[in-house]
Formats: sequence, C-alpha cells, structure tokens
Amino acid sequence: MKAERTRKLEKEMLTCTFCGFCKSVCPYFEDNQWDPSVARGKVILAYGLAREDIEPDDSVVKRIYQCTTCKDCERRCPSDIKVIEIVKAARRDLVEAGHMLPAHSKIADNIARTGNPYGDTKEADFGVPIKQAEIGYFIGCTSRYRTTEIAKHTISIFKKLDVDFTLVEEGCCGSTLHRIGQSKEVILNLMKANLDAVKRLGIKRLLFTCAGCLHMFKEEYPKHFDYDFEAEHVVQYLARQKLKLKPLRKRITYHDPCHIGRHMKIYNEPRELLRMIPEAEFVEMKESKESSRCCGGGGGVRASEPDASQRIASRRVTSASEVADILVTSCPFCVSTLVFGNDLVEMDIEIKDITELIDDLLIA
Ligand code: SF4
Ligand code: SF4
Repeated sequence: MKAERTRKLEKEMLTCTFCGFCKSVCPYFEDNQWDPSVARGKVILAYGLAREDIEPDDSVVKRIYQCTTCKDCERRCPSDIKVIEIVKAARRDLVEAGHMLPAHSKIADNIARTGNPYGDTKEADFGVPIKQAEIGYFIGCTSRYRTTEIAKHTISIFKKLDVDFTLVEEGCCGSTLHRIGQSKEVILNLMKANLDAVKRLGIKRLLFTCAGCLHMFKEEYPKHFDYDFEAEHVVQYLARQKLKLKPLRKRITYHDPCHIGRHMKIYNEPRELLRMIPEAEFVEMKESKESSRCCGGGGGVRASEPDASQRIASRRVTSASEVADILVTSCPFCVSTLVFGNDLVEMDIEIKDITELIDDLLIA
C-alpha cells in the first residue's frame, strides 16, 4: 500500500520514545488494555504502513480506527507528537487504498445520498424562517435529525432573548468524513455549499451548538476557503448576555467535549453560564478542562465500535454521578453518547445539553 500522507510524517513518528505516558489517558487503552490501541501503538503501526513494512490487514485497520481523536495523548506526550495528524493521515491512506470499515462506508454513502450521516430524509420543522440576518444558527446533523430538542431549546433561548436570527440551508459540515479518512473532494464540496449558504444570508456571526461542527468550521474550513463571519459556540455568545435564570437547588457538573475543550480551549464560558444559575452548586469532576476524559463518541468510533464507545461513555457518567445530580455538556453528540453510556451503568443522574438546562431556567 502506498501511504504517501503517512510517509510525510515519518520524522514526527520517529520522535516517539515509547515512554508510554499516553497510556495513562487514552480512553481506548483504558477500555481494552491493548498497546496497539494507544497512541504509541498507532504510531508504530502507521510507521510500518509508511515504510511498507506491514500490510494493512484487518487487525491493522481496526487499530488505526480505535481512536476517538480526543487529543488527550497529545497533551500528555513529552515528545509533542501530533498523534491525531498521524491517525488522520493513516486513515486517509487506508481509505484511498480501499480499506474502509463497513460502518464508515455507510456514513459516507448516507452523506452522499441524503447530505447527513444518518441517512435520514425527514428533517424536523423548527418553525424558523430562513432569511437575511446578522446572526445565524447552524444546527448540525445530530440535532437536525436525532437530538432535535437541543435545537428547539436553542431556538427558544434566542426567542426569549429577542435575538434576530436565521437558520441556514445547511448540509453536513464534513467533520465525521474528515476524521474517518474520506475523500477531501467530497469534504470540500460540503464546506463550499455551507459557506455559500451562510454568505447568501449576510450572516456576520454564526452560532453552533455542536462542538464537532464548530471545530470543523474554525480549524478546517479556513485552510481551504476565506470567510468573513465569526463562528462561535452558543455558550460563548450566551456567556456575554445578561441572563435572568430561575434558581435550581442541584449539583451540576460539566463534561468538556473534546472538540471545543482540548481542541479549542473553550473552558470558561460554559462554566460561567452554569455559575449564573441561582442556588445551583457547580462542581468539577476529577478530570475536567484540559484533562477531561473523552465521552467515547468521536472519530467514527460510535459507529464502528459502539460497545467500546458505550463502555467509555459509561465511565464518564459514573465519574459525574460521584459528584453531581446533573451532567451537562455542550455538544449533542456527547449528550447522545453519554446517555448511551448510562444505559449500561444506570446511574441516577440527569444528562443534558447546556441549552436545554438554560432554556428551562431562562426567564423571558
Ligand atoms: S507519550 Fe508520546 S512519546 Fe510517549 S509513547 Fe506515547 S506517543 Fe510515544
Ligand atoms: S487521541 Fe484519544 S483515543 Fe486517540 S490515541 Fe490519543 S488518547 Fe487515545
């Protein structure tokens, strides 16, 4: 197999000292205790592929895809290895050589056929006209087709705050395809269609509730296209508003989604928002902010290895239940994965998106 992209990272891979520090944080290693599943194992496998020393057989492909792209190993790595770049390059080379996991082929087919990874054709009616406005709300596929209540609560918050906003004729942002190594051409087409849709409406600030979509717009879109609007998470926007909230006598903790946490360092705003709630007690989990554990859903893992994803999520929910009555996060995919994880351990804890909690308490 020609592994051209992975080969370009050979020097980067050679800086791995095999110290094993990445083992202490990798959610996949915690789950299966297999060295090839942790960062250094993937670095060795990717190096073997780059040098054409090993064949991309099923076991190699499986291990390269056992990564949620949570970035925690990079935080821990003394050699500062760009593990996610290596994983993404290896995945792209594997896909180009025809090695794709069946669950990921299905996602790619769904997006080609319906414009969303779920393959759904019936979108919820959010009752908001698409019009010219300075503020736009990019819902993202998960809340357009699955966790629609998160989009509805966000829209309700905007209405209570009298925000003049519009929805966007959006399609998949391309995040999942990018992380599972799919064709760049397809992803560029998705990016262009979304940017054209935003520009048509004269939007100056585009708000997101999905951490993955925002990360994609902030990190990948600018590498290929110019755009002149601000992209930010709704927690950043709301933290600047004067919110009047009803009191809530509960202990609340916050799960940092990897996409806006470690990848984008948006740590303070969601906490500021939660601290605005009168009588609520905000508590941190043992692992929070930069050391937050992954929910187990990202990097295509929820689709390819749902059982592992569920076990990883269940550990996060268990940690939250040790300190709080409500586990809040700010990404619909994290919410859905954490709820899935709790199906396994059945902890007595509410799991919500921050927009759901804020809307329930917001006084118009
Ligand atoms: S922490 Fe970095 S240098 Fe150490 S084994 Fe893991 S990838 Fe290699
Ligand atoms: S990015 Fe996360 S899941 Fe992937 S190897 Fe690093 S710690 Fe493990």
